[in-house]
Parts: sequence; structure tokens; C-alpha cells
Amino acid sequence: MNNFEFKNPTKIIFGKDTIEKLENEIPKDAKVLLLYGGGSIKKNGIYDQVKTALASLEVVEFGGIPANPEYAVLLEALKVIKEENITYLLAVGGGSVIDGTKFLSAAALYEGETPWDILTKNIRTEKGMPFGTVLTLPATGSEMNSGSVITRAETKEKLAMGGPGLFPEFSILDPQVIASIPERQLANGLTDAFTHVLEQYMTYPIGALLQDRFAESILQTLIEVAPKVLKDPTDYKAASDFMWSCTMALNGLIQKGVPTDWAVHAMGHELTALFGIDHARTLAVIAPSHYKFNFEAKKEKLAQYGQRVWNITEGSTDDKAYAAIEKTVAFFHQLGIDTKLSDYTKDYEGTAEEISKRFTNRGWTGLGEHQSLSPDKVEKIVKMAY
Ligand code: NAP
Ligand code: FE
Repeated sequence: MNNFEFKNPTKIIFGKDTIEKLENEIPKDAKVLLLYGGGSIKKNGIYDQVKTALASLEVVEFGGIPANPEYAVLLEALKVIKEENITYLLAVGGGSVIDGTKFLSAAALYEGETPWDILTKNIRTEKGMPFGTVLTLPATGSEMNSGSVITRAETKEKLAMGGPGLFPEFSILDPQVIASIPERQLANGLTDAFTHVLEQYMTYPIGALLQDRFAESILQTLIEVAPKVLKDPTDYKAASDFMWSCTMALNGLIQKGVPTDWAVHAMGHELTALFGIDHARTLAVIAPSHYKFNFEAKKEKLAQYGQRVWNITEGSTDDKAYAAIEKTVAFFHQLGIDTKLSDYTKDYEGTAEEISKRFTNRGWTGLGEHQSLSPDKVEKIVKMAY
């Protein structure tokens, strides 16, 4: 196992009717900016629950943060933070609203020339404006990690940021919120969380027994609850298992002491930036090609995954590893998620070259757990995903 340090300061408040606990978590003298997305919270009653819980606090609102949180919209919110002397941020939404709030937390205290630098110059945020979240969509794990991904439509970019100052102070996870999530977003959530685990698990050499078994148990739980959640999102038991699995998939725990990959996300982000494809779906497009391309290096782990998660017991290591990739693809299909770029756009020609060029320009010359994935290899993987 590699050396590691682990600190996750986010307080989780999990369970039925927990949104009412919101008031206790925010300082009484705070001036709060309530941030939300396109309005789903007004239809499903979450907005009313939040407003009731915040009744004794001074609250300003900013709605309209789109899926794939857009830089230009966030700059508008930043203006409100400054004009209104906001001291506390509250994200009520899925990964997009939470990630957007993390950007604002960093940007509100950033003293450099332009907050875009935070994304392009890899500026780690040590201290941001304090914020909490009410999660409405299990998927990203953003409610208990310190990462964020921001989109800029003008330049077709989608870039990551983070730092120890960007953990939410608290996150409220009430599985009842799942009842109103459309099937497409439920499938996205399952796929994103599943791929988060793969990014931290499908690496070599195999080195940590406990982290592997944590990862496998999250994968197994997601596989088990997927049909139940899709069939009936009001099934509280399934919703609870789904919600906590998504948080556990990316709160830092399973990645400690082991190499992590994240190349699937790096390539996937470009597909969202270029074509607007839902984040989770880009991962389902890239992951199978990535594992096939890196088969020799990752096959021991792929076979272990096949055996332990999918009960593949027959055949050689190669056979099990290959069957494990096929099982993964079948799982995505079972969720209604297409796994080829051509399923999403007719304009896919040239995409691989464009992504490879972008990575070269950014100096991303070695992705993956051993920094061995050069832009020419990225080009081949993306082509395999057409
Ligand atoms: P999302 O973009 O936050 O939300 C997707 C859609 O679901 C929105 O239209 C949203 O509506 C709707 N929705 C959310 N909760 C709902 C509910 N309870 N009922 C009905 N509709 C609901 O989706 P996401 O998958 O959570 O986030 C994706 C973003 O997170 C991407 O930008 C991705 O790159 C990023 N991401 C971040 C991390 C991280 O660690 N920080 C990891 C992976 C991905 P509203 O607009 O009305 O809210
Ligand atoms: Fe993700």
C-alpha cells in the first residue's frame, strides 16, 4: 500500500426528513446565498422544505445554474455574492449546482486577476467561502469531496479544480429526493458512481486488499439496486443504498493508498465540452475502449473484478478480464446508456485528433495511474470509442 493522509471534514446528515435540520448547520449571523439549478426543486417541494428550514436566516437566492455549470452564469452569481456581502453559500441540487458552488466558494475569496485562472493555472483552494449542500441527485460524490468541474461554452472547455478548502461543511442526504428524478438522470447517476469506483480500482499493480473490497462492495451494491431504483424511485430502501453508494464512491476513502487512473474522466469531459453529452454517458463511451486499449496492464485487475463482482469463474485471466469488460458494457446498456460516440453524434470524425491536440496543448502528456497515457494513445482510445 502507498503512504497516505486522509481527512474528510464534511459532516453528513443522512435520512428521512433531514432537510429540516438545515438551520442548525449554518451560523445564525450568516448572510446566505441559496444556489439552485433549473427549477426542479420548485416542482418537487425541496425548495419549500429548504425555505422553511431557513426561515430565521437572512437569505438571498440565485437560481438557473445549468447542468455542466457554466462559467458565465457563475460570474453572475459571483457579482451577487460581492454586491450583497454574502458570507455563506448553500447549494441545493445535483453535481452541477454543488460544483458551481465550489467554484464560487473559491472565486469569492480569490485575489488574482480573473477567477478563470483557478481552472487554467491549477490553483488549489486552501480556503474558500464556507458552504453546505442539500443533495437532490445521487451521482457525483461532490457532496463529500473537494473537487469541481466547470464548463465554459464560449471556448468549449470543461476543466477541473479543487483543494482542501472546498469540502462542503455539511451535506444533507435525504433519499426521498430521489422520487422525482427522471429515469435518464437516475441512469446517469448509477453510471457516474460506478465509473468513479472503476477509476480508483481498475489500476495496477494490485496492492491493497481492503480498498479493493470497499470498491467491489460499492460496485456490487450499485448493480443490485440499479433495477430497483429505476423501477420505483420511491422505494426508500433502494434509494438509501443508491444514495450512500454514490457518496462513498467518491469521498476519498477508496482511493487512499492505491494508484488512481481518472483518464476516463479526462477524455469524457472533452466529449461533454465538444458535444454536450451528459457527463455519465461520456464515461460509458470511453471506459470500454480504455480498458480494452490498456488490457495487458490492467488484465489482472479486470479479471479480479470479473470474478468478484460479476461471478465470472470460467477461463484464463485473459478470458475473465475480457468477459468483465463485456459485462460492464451490458450493465450500461441495461441502464439505457449507449456506449459508442456515434450513438450520440454524427459529427464524431476528427474528435480523437482534437482531444489529443487539446491534451498536448495543455501539457497533459501522461494520464493514467502511471502517467503513461500519452496524447497519441488517447487518440487511439477515443477512436476505438466511435
Ligand atoms: P446535474 O447536472 O446536477 O443535474 C442533472 C439534471 O437533474 C438537472 O436537470 C437537474 O435539474 C435534475 N435534477 C436534480 N435533482 C433532481 C430531483 N431531485 N428531481 C428532479 N430532477 C432533478 O447532474 P449530476 O449528474 O449530479 O452532475 C453532473 C455534473 O457533475 C457534471 O458537470 C459533472 O462533470 C460533474 N461531476 C462532478 C464530480 C465531482 O466530484 N465534483 C464528479 C463527477 C461529475 P435542476 O437543474 O432543476 O437542478
Ligand atoms: Fe464523474
